[in-house]
Amino acid sequence: MSSLPYRYIVGLEVHAELNTETKMFCRCVNKPFGSEPNTNVCPVCLGLPGTLPVPNREAVKKTILVGLALESTIPKISKWDRKHYFYPDSPKAYQISQSDMPLCVGGHLDLLAPDGSVESTVRFERVHLEEDAGKLQHAAGGVSHVDLNRAGVPLIEMVSKPDLTSPEQARRFLQELRLLVRAVGVSDADMEKGQMRCDVNINIAFEHEGTTIKTPITEVKNVNSTRAVERSIATEAQRQYDEWMADGPIRTRTNKLTSGWDEDTNEVKIQRAKEGANDYRYFPEPDIPPVAVYELADLNPKTLVKTLPELPNSIRKQYAKEVGADLESILSDREEIEYFKQYIAEGMPAKVVANWIKQVPDFLSVAQDGDVLAVYGLIKSGDMSFSAFKEKVAQFTADLHSSRERTAKDTAQTLGLLQVHDENVVQSAIAEVIAANPQAVADYKSGNERIIGFIVGQVMKKAAGKAQPAHVQEAVKAELAK
Ligand SMILES: [Zn+2]
Repeated sequence: MSSLPYRYIVGLEVHAELNTETKMFCRCVNKPFGSEPNTNVCPVCLGLPGTLPVPNREAVKKTILVGLALESTIPKISKWDRKHYFYPDSPKAYQISQSDMPLCVGGHLDLLAPDGSVESTVRFERVHLEEDAGKLQHAAGGVSHVDLNRAGVPLIEMVSKPDLTSPEQARRFLQELRLLVRAVGVSDADMEKGQMRCDVNINIAFEHEGTTIKTPITEVKNVNSTRAVERSIATEAQRQYDEWMADGPIRTRTNKLTSGWDEDTNEVKIQRAKEGANDYRYFPEPDIPPVAVYELADLNPKTLVKTLPELPNSIRKQYAKEVGADLESILSDREEIEYFKQYIAEGMPAKVVANWIKQVPDFLSVAQDGDVLAVYGLIKSGDMSFSAFKEKVAQFTADLHSSRERTAKDTAQTLGLLQVHDENVVQSAIAEVIAANPQAVADYKSGNERIIGFIVGQVMKKAAGKAQPAHVQEAVKAELAK
């Protein structure tokens, strides 16, 4: 339990850039990085007079998919609004966003314990779609340049309710949300590239002279790593508590503060009193009609929900106990998730598949139809050991693929990986070992089952390379049961 004198009340507003081909309201390529500045631009995203925005259907579809993954309600009608602010990265001096009628309303994301059970649930206010701003680059001598390659890139905003109760939980929530948008396939969500960014709303509650105090909210903008989310919450909460206890101006303040997180100094820098919705002068975007998604075949949520891939939490609920820690690293990679599900569907145990994904990834990535199951068959039957296969996996793959007629068994034979099993040799070895170890046999018969490992070891030694451990174990048990 926390020994802090206050409770955290935290909500996150998480932005993610969608991985569409083109920008949100024009046909410019959606490529905010890796181009010369101001090359992926056109009159629409430069905000020139006389241009008209046309919404990107793919972006609307991807937003709805995120909403469906969070089990949000998708309203019948959604509309666009202008949000006004003056800043050099916004050429129109407004951003096309969604105010009172977003594409997705409500929803939730569960945080699971390691055994797959639900530990906590974080609810959402909404998920809406808007356009990203350009980027300022501050050069030497007080000069700033603006790059508008990012201006107009589709951006979703996922707004949680203030359900988060610790810095650590907020970090996990953000990680989980990142995993989810990647699994749905709508964003790469790389925080280092700014493809996913987060504003953190923080206040605290505590008991003071018989009443419950709740401090005013501080919004910390552009917190750009999961670690910074955790640290900014702890820092700002303590700052609010100290300020209150010092009888500071926080006691009479009612509006929200906006601040930034300084990664280098670990400080929250208060910037200004937050604009309310009035200051943004939201009004309906006159150039784009409202969208009725259920009336459009390609955007109908009832159809889209059937196209959702299996989500990380569903995979965890089925396999977390069996697979353990490897599962988390598999869940962060879409290709690994595909292998995982494919080979389980083909009949391999989840634990084995997870192990192969970690130990022989190159084999899986070039495997042809049936290869993986054929190799697994050899290992399962005891004809080849996994460690022997792993040791020669590169040669194995090359040999197996050298001709269409090669089978996994041919290759194992060629590379000397087949484990011989000579039943006559094994039987006489068992007879000798039993005769030579009456005490071990007596122990086994009186209930010490672990002694069988010793007996099998002795038999393997005597059989000298002509026995497979799995078969020997069975044969020893059968013999001792007589
Ligand atoms: Zn454009």
